[in-house]
Amino acid sequence: MGSLGLLEKPHALCIPYPAQGHINPMLKLAKLLNYRGFHITFVNSEFNHKRLLKSRGPDSLNGTSSFQFETIPDGLPPSDAEATQDIPSLCKSFTEHGLAPFKDLLCKVNDDASSSNAPPITCIISDGVMSFTLAAAQELGIPEVLFWTTSACGFMGYVQYPILIEKGLIPLKDESYMTNGYLDKVIDWIPSMKGIRLKDFPSFVRTTDPDDFMVKFVLGEVERAKKASAIILNTFEELEGDVVNALSSMLPPVYTIGPLHLILNQVDDSSLKSIGSNLWKEEPECLEWLDSKEPNSVVYVNFGSITVMTPDQLVEFAWGLANSNQSFLWIIRPDLVTGDSAILPPELVRETKERGLLASWCTQEEVLSHPSIGGFLTHSGWNSTLESICGGVPMICWPFFAEQQTNCWYSCSQWGIGMEINSDVKRDEVESLVKDLMVGEKGEEKKKKAMEWKKMTEEATASSTGSSYMNLEKMINQLLISPK
Ligand code: UDP
Repeated sequence: MGSLGLLEKPHALCIPYPAQGHINPMLKLAKLLNYRGFHITFVNSEFNHKRLLKSRGPDSLNGTSSFQFETIPDGLPPSDAEATQDIPSLCKSFTEHGLAPFKDLLCKVNDDASSSNAPPITCIISDGVMSFTLAAAQELGIPEVLFWTTSACGFMGYVQYPILIEKGLIPLKDESYMTNGYLDKVIDWIPSMKGIRLKDFPSFVRTTDPDDFMVKFVLGEVERAKKASAIILNTFEELEGDVVNALSSMLPPVYTIGPLHLILNQVDDSSLKSIGSNLWKEEPECLEWLDSKEPNSVVYVNFGSITVMTPDQLVEFAWGLANSNQSFLWIIRPDLVTGDSAILPPELVRETKERGLLASWCTQEEVLSHPSIGGFLTHSGWNSTLESICGGVPMICWPFFAEQQTNCWYSCSQWGIGMEINSDVKRDEVESLVKDLMVGEKGEEKKKKAMEWKKMTEEATASSTGSSYMNLEKMINQLLISPK
């Protein structure tokens, strides 16, 4: 990858949806574009900007002369909480009130640019679920790429919402449809999703409300996706090629450019490396602890940045892990448990002191590529799933919401690397699945398959030859030559 050598430097304004699982991949893409010669303006919400300064230190968002940070208000009441914000409220706030401050920001960045010799904004890379930004790009006459940070299969699940409604499958007729087997219905018209059931679609289908906000939100975002200059996905052709082909026939050019972190790992630039995006303070002791463990011997437990559970569910997971007799690294985010703070039975903590480590946040990519990790108990968030695939780590899936249900179905029944755990979690099932995964025959098969996928991630991201590497190049070229 060399520099562009153009007369005018391109300038990409990157705006992620303000949640951890969206900021991380957008930042990686921004760094790659910066490395390829783009001037970058990276836009965080004011709320997350404050959190990043707190978790990473006051100098963490200084950027460089060609990589700058800006902020935008999220429109929610001010708060100092160090917790994930309510997702529907954020979606509503940005859809209804995001455009005006976004346009003001574009004017400010362009004005600043003209007085500081920086180039004017030449393209916008926006999160797929921040599509209100398209109107601003159109006004400026510049291209906008939508980055859907979901899997391709999760995105396809959303793209199918209008058809599910048209066919009368959603909203559900009444509450009994949630439990009467209706959700087991096989959806048979999507060629790239043979055998998928209604319950495997992104979770917002589980509503009886014809005016459900999240369903309407999805419909709006999916419709507007058609107006983007291109769509990018953090996945790779070898894994999701069929779904991507099906998506490509309905949408603007779709580029698979993942796993982004494997492409970024090839870049040797210390100033870019120092720009981080963790909203919680990382605990590096996790890696030291893992160094002391045997290969493939530790179960890693982490439910991402949004999942919440009840105190009872926490206790079921805890006893299941304790009774499995396996070593575990369990990340319990401070806001993971609803209501009062997370309390684990003291006898359990005593009993597992030698083989269990509890922490509140870790550098997950590094953990999942650590040789001691043998399995991952996950909520099936897309970044987590992809990072697990890159590490060759099989999973136990406990999906919480959104397209995590779809990722879970693919992981378990299509990619051969997952085992699903009942949403009504019980300690006995946790115990037996953890044993199966870590020391059972089934686990061995899944591990083998996970290692095969890992190899394919390396091939897909290989410099100059990998499918994702080449797609990233194509996308960059499109941004450089396309006036709109
Ligand atoms: N993550 C991390 N440390 C943690 C928990 C999560 O670095 O202790 C990162 C993880 O690597 C991933 C992101 O946070 O990149 C979570 O995204 P995902 O899509 O898996 O789930 P979400 O948080 O959106 O539900």
